[in-house]
Amino acid sequence: MSTWDREADAFLGCTAAFDDAQAVIFGAPLDATTSYRPGTRQASRVMRAESYSIETYSPYQDLDLADFAVCDSGDLDSPFGNPARALDLIEERSRAILAAGKLPLMIGGEHLVTLGAVRAAARVFPDLHMIHLDAHADLRDSYQDEKLSHATVMRRCWELLGDGRIHQFGIRSGEREEIAWAKTHVRTRFFDLEGLGDTVRQLAGRPVYLTIDLDVLDPAVFPGTGTPEAGGLSFTDLLGAIRLAGSLNIVACDLNELSPPLDPSGIATATALKTMRELLLAVLSGRTRRL
Ligand code: MN
Ligand code: MN
Repeated sequence: MSTWDREADAFLGCTAAFDDAQAVIFGAPLDATTSYRPGTRQASRVMRAESYSIETYSPYQDLDLADFAVCDSGDLDSPFGNPARALDLIEERSRAILAAGKLPLMIGGEHLVTLGAVRAAARVFPDLHMIHLDAHADLRDSYQDEKLSHATVMRRCWELLGDGRIHQFGIRSGEREEIAWAKTHVRTRFFDLEGLGDTVRQLAGRPVYLTIDLDVLDPAVFPGTGTPEAGGLSFTDLLGAIRLAGSLNIVACDLNELSPPLDPSGIATATALKTMRELLLAVLSGRTRRL
């Protein structure tokens, strides 16, 4: 029995022991830098509790989580007010899961959490690429004088990976300087997912980190988030992207930016859970096919 095994109160359908699991979920309750409208630190806890409102079976993919071994390793004890330390804990947990040959799926937290997980993945996979779905480019060099922020996270990832390795889709917000910088350093598709199929063909066989900032969705389907941006994807669009990406060698992934205090109707939490189920099924069935 691993110290992370949970017998009860795991995410629905994610009750495998760590040693038996193909994928390992963990929560990263960090919202140290989203001072404007905090709340993402509650996402994994609320999602876990609400997960009993969805089914383990996906009619979209005709697959059932009950047929895969997924471990819920619980939430990290993120220290409040110390994002650097929180990132170290995320890196450590991600590294342990990768070292065991399993897929880490992290639930944020604000988008900054991705940096810790990418540090771990880039160490194991030096030719790592990223697919980044988001309303925001997140490429600022600093934000409110901070280098570690949800608004700078992809710039910090770029520092680890280099030019041409980050493939962004759905972007519809950024500073002029940020967007100008992006042109020569990352690949940015504005507003929608066009070209994702070509990107998937280019990245076939390579290790890929998939990060999904849920605010890439339209606020109509995902209202519970700190920086909503009109003009986003439908759930069906996002599902299509997840299924396309599922054919890739996804070595780690995350969902972030659900903010339960901003979700009184529960719509966004339910959408995050459905996204998580479809993501797990797409990536794990892709892995099984490649074995
Ligand atoms: Mn983001
Ligand atoms: Mn965003």
